[in-house]
Amino acid sequence: MNETIAVVGAGIAGLLLARELKARGAEVVVFEKSRGLGGRMATKRVGEAVFDTGAQYFTAKSERFAAQVTEWAAAGVVAPWPGASAHRWMAKPSMNALGKFLAEGLEIQRESKLVNVQREFGVWELTIENRPAWRVGRLVLAAPLPQSLALLKAGGVELPRLLAAELAALTYHPCLALLLTLAGPSAMPAEGIAFADGPVRWMADNSKKGISPEGHAAVTVHLSSAFAAEHYAKTEAELAELVVPGIADQLGPPVVNVALQRWKFSEPAATFAQPCVWLPDLGLGLAGDAFGGPRVEGAALSGWAMAERMAVQART
Ligand SMILES: Cc1cc2nc3c(=O)[nH]c(=O)nc-3n(C[C@H](O)[C@H](O)[C@H](O)COP(=O)(O)OP(=O)(O)OC[C@H]3O[C@@H](n4cnc5c(N)ncnc54)[C@H](O)[C@@H]3O)c2cc1C
Repeated sequence: MNETIAVVGAGIAGLLLARELKARGAEVVVFEKSRGLGGRMATKRVGEAVFDTGAQYFTAKSERFAAQVTEWAAAGVVAPWPGASAHRWMAKPSMNALGKFLAEGLEIQRESKLVNVQREFGVWELTIENRPAWRVGRLVLAAPLPQSLALLKAGGVELPRLLAAELAALTYHPCLALLLTLAGPSAMPAEGIAFADGPVRWMADNSKKGISPEGHAAVTVHLSSAFAAEHYAKTEAELAELVVPGIADQLGPPVVNVALQRWKFSEPAATFAQPCVWLPDLGLGLAGDAFGGPRVEGAALSGWAMAERMAVQART
């Protein structure tokens, strides 16, 4: 029997799950379609400017995650957002650093996009774009839920009918992140956080946050999900024309470059009733923020819950 467990998605849910399973002696391989790790905890360089493009920070409300964050802080991997009044944590030096840290010691197949998963004779066959296929005994999908369900559909995998209907109803909001390089330091408050009306949901100054080098003022502007849904296909230039005049006073100096990160699956609109799904008969699991809750912490809790469920099943 093939004992290898495949985890699809190197976001925080998939990485914490893989670490837990490995710590319990399992053979685990993580497949990630991107070159970078950390999923929506993502960072992008545009010229010399550096932007956190997805999650800007995370909170730690549960006892378990708070204890974990304290450990990461002691290791220097995370720190409080400088000057922020609420308790906002960020990875050091930027959000994608936590993914890199969690990936240490794991077998990770990067730039490996699964396009199809099929179950045959008790084994999962994984079809991967431009790579040889893999065969594994157990499979956990830790991508944003609609992407996980699309993989199962492509492979003709049928879930129990009620579960399938409940999961299909869990949709995600889109987000657009405008990445603005400014001619000089922004006019935003010292902690680098600002809110605005209209299409803008959140603005973060990556220089004041301490991740974009001095002299390269870099502001991430997250647009609201309603605006993103309506204008998703627009170019960065078109979006800048619609958005920048309304925030010009908050930005201060002129914008010298505009880049764009589209997030089709930014955050789940609702959360599933359980922190993960494990189907022992199929050797199939589903995890991620659609299960644990729509934040970094929720995704982490889902990854851990999945490891528990699989361990319980292995013992019974
Ligand atoms: C714009 C934005 C702002 C946010 N702000 C915050 C915030 O301030 N605070 C907060 O706590 N949370 C925030 N979030 C939410 C937070 O980022 C997520 O809840 C959390 O990171 C989800 O982790 P995850 O592991 O479930 O999924 P992800 O991080 O999405 O990881 C899934 C991984 O699966 C990979 N993948 C997908 N399909 C395939 C495939 N076919 N084959 C191989 N790999 C695949 C993806 O590339 C990705 O790396 C924000 C998200 C966005 C997008």
